[in-house]
Amino acid sequence: RVNRQDFMDALNEVTPAFGVAKEELEMVIQNGIIHYDHTIDEILRSGQLFVDQVRTSTRTPLVSLLLHGPPGSGKTALAATITRSSDYPFMKLVSPDDMVGFSEGQKVQSISKVFSDSYKSPLSVIVVDNIERLLDFTPIGPRFSNAVLQTLMVLLAKRPPKGRRLFIIATTSLRPILTDLGLSESFDSEIRVPPLSSLAALENVVNEVELIPKPSELQRTMQMLEQAGFGAQDDTGLNIGIKKLLSVIEMARQEPEAVGERLVTSLMGL
Ligand code: ATP
Ligand code: MG
Repeated sequence: RVNRQDFMDALNEVTPAFGVAKEELEMVIQNGIIHYDHTIDEILRSGQLFVDQVRTSTRTPLVSLLLHGPPGSGKTALAATITRSSDYPFMKLVSPDDMVGFSEGQKVQSISKVFSDSYKSPLSVIVVDNIERLLDFTPIGPRFSNAVLQTLMVLLAKRPPKGRRLFIIATTSLRPILTDLGLSESFDSEIRVPPLSSLAALENVVNEVELIPKPSELQRTMQMLEQAGFGAQDDTGLNIGIKKLLSVIEMARQEPEAVGERLVTSLMGL
């Protein structure tokens, strides 16, 4: 007879001991992924190709990808989305948010632990989020943790043991400093995550979150944005990360009588 204990044991067997941190991934994709532009699909598709490559090619047991772009452009959420859809048995997010108050040594230890845990799984994906913050980078000086830098360099280059495969996705808002630190050569590939730069993309977001359901009202708002110069194709036009845009939208929503105006003035004030 199957009793409760057998049932609990079976549950424990299918729950991996470490590594699969789905909740962690869900947390950073809180607002979902809005396909406001073809670039989003392209980034996700490229990510999927790497996932497939690591899974199937015996020649590339280690693949690393750098997602870079301005603050709030959606790097972490996209890295987490690629990771989640890989469905590898080991998926882990290494985030500076989880290392607040850590000493340099504790950081090094915690990062190394994630990698050594991953080597026990046949297939792993690790997101190394916000490299500059992991490194405690400060432009003044400039200063950074050399111990963390050395650790990352070693781990990015280290082939997992025989029969193991690892996909590393790192993110940064400070792409140029990685070159200065000698870290950019450590990546097999890089993808830029751009900010929103067209009114069409912005309109897609506004529609997706149902900020201005009334078509005439939406049209009026888009005209105001156009008149305010946001339609320009050069760098005087729209230039905003999805993270910021979503927070501006939620603020505008608080004023139901004049959502459109509120959105336009908030964007102009940035
Ligand atoms: P930071 O530079 O501060 O690290 P980031 O570039 O990592 O920021 P995220 O933290 O990923 O940006 O924030 C993006 C937010 O926007 C998330 O809440 C995510 O759910 C939401 N989002 C909606 N659509 C998209 C999209 N197409 N791509 C990325 N994120 C999106
Ligand atoms: Mg981020």
